[in-house]
Amino acid sequence: MFLLWIGKLRFARGVYVFFGIHPHLAAEGIFKRQMDQLDSLTDKNSYVAIGEVGLDYTTTCICRPCRNTSMCKEEARHNQEEAFIYMLLLARRKSFPVIIHCRDFGDGSDAKRTLEIIFHHDLADMKCYRHCFKGTIEEFTAWQQLLSIIFGVFGKLIRDDTGCSEIIPRISPHQLVLETDSHFLSSFACCLVILPWNLQVIATEVSRLRNFSLSVLM
Ligand SMILES: [Zn+2]
Ligand SMILES: [Zn+2]
Repeated sequence: MFLLWIGKLRFARGVYVFFGIHPHLAAEGIFKRQMDQLDSLTDKNSYVAIGEVGLDYTTTCICRPCRNTSMCKEEARHNQEEAFIYMLLLARRKSFPVIIHCRDFGDGSDAKRTLEIIFHHDLADMKCYRHCFKGTIEEFTAWQQLLSIIFGVFGKLIRDDTGCSEIIPRISPHQLVLETDSHFLSSFACCLVILPWNLQVIATEVSRLRNFSLSVLM
């Protein structure tokens, strides 16, 4: 899977990349060969982080029909944790930041477990980017226990307006990154697709909520 990209990267000057095994994929189990490829990719000059990595409790299994949902769920979580821990330790060994994907059905259980794993492995000082942050104030505060955490503010957070007007003003400017996660998680109720140049929609809303001028953000 990674080999496809190695060739492309040779021609992409000025582009910085990161690779990881997304929890949706990791749920199916990871192979040593994949891990070895990831390890050697991180030695390329344009490589800057490891991600997306993390846990996703919304992942569904690929068996159709599923005969044992609770067993599949347990297996997916086990596989995701195994991959997550491997990639966290790889990031530590190679001094890379990690880009964390963390998603559940809104009860905060995923973030709780993700943080437990990070603390258990004594990685609270690792540079972490909590991509597409969506959660409660309590969850936001829990992430702040990590010494170098930054938060990705994205379109759907703004579109849903479930707490974003409370959370965005609490994110320090040095901890805030605008992202689209293109083409997912659109800011537009009318259109499910978001594109990189739609970043301005997110920037405009953040500038309104933070009382920053747009030119500071973009
Ligand atoms: Zn299943
Ligand atoms: Zn993600």
